[in-house]
Amino acid sequence: MAQAGIHGIVGVVTRKWTPASEWLVLGIVLGNLLPDADNLAVAVATVTGSPTAGLHRTFTHSLFTVTAVITVFQLIAIIAKRPRLGNLGLGLGIGMTMHIALDLLIWFDGVAVLWPLPMWINFWEGVTPPDWFAQLMSPLEMLFLALYFGGLAALAQRQSTDLGRVKWLKVWTAVQAILFLVFLVLVYTLNSGFMTIFGAVYLLSLGLALVVTVQMRQTIESPADPKGFRKPFGSLS
Ligand SMILES: [Zn+2]
Repeated sequence: MAQAGIHGIVGVVTRKWTPASEWLVLGIVLGNLLPDADNLAVAVATVTGSPTAGLHRTFTHSLFTVTAVITVFQLIAIIAKRPRLGNLGLGLGIGMTMHIALDLLIWFDGVAVLWPLPMWINFWEGVTPPDWFAQLMSPLEMLFLALYFGGLAALAQRQSTDLGRVKWLKVWTAVQAILFLVFLVLVYTLNSGFMTIFGAVYLLSLGLALVVTVQMRQTIESPADPKGFRKPFGSLS
């Protein structure tokens, strides 16, 4: 599993260089987060006793899927005459591509970037991280989600956007931080069943991250940042 919080943070950081098109940055952040929702398919397969091979880092991590998502959203945008849906689709495509690139660079595993073609790219072929490190990756999911939520809360306060949601974001930040500590203990002490408990909490947390991202879209997309982070087109200062 990749670190969803890192993907989310990387997505939000791109706002500095992204044109202020409605829903574009929202799409980029969601696109950075969404590909690992394929872990839901892995969970369903596990629960139903089906094979889990070929479910993670395949259909949601493919450049063909990226192209399909962009194309479908552009068509819907044209037919429905809603340009922001086109921006959302383009953002999703950009975000998914960023997610794939980051997975290739910093994770010790391959990605089926041209799924359904059976071609896996793995820059880490032959590299096996030590056990303690591989185990640490799971609890770290919660820590990075805490950083993502906390970062959004800080951004909202700095920009005075979505202020009504900041209180809840702080709650979610604390919950994820506590979950990090709990799973940090469990991963090294629980002999069996860790992945079942962790997998369920992970999927709920990822779902929460997607909901929070949509709720905080004004903060993520805010063009008028008083501290000078991102200004609307045509702004002289
Ligand atoms: Zn991934």
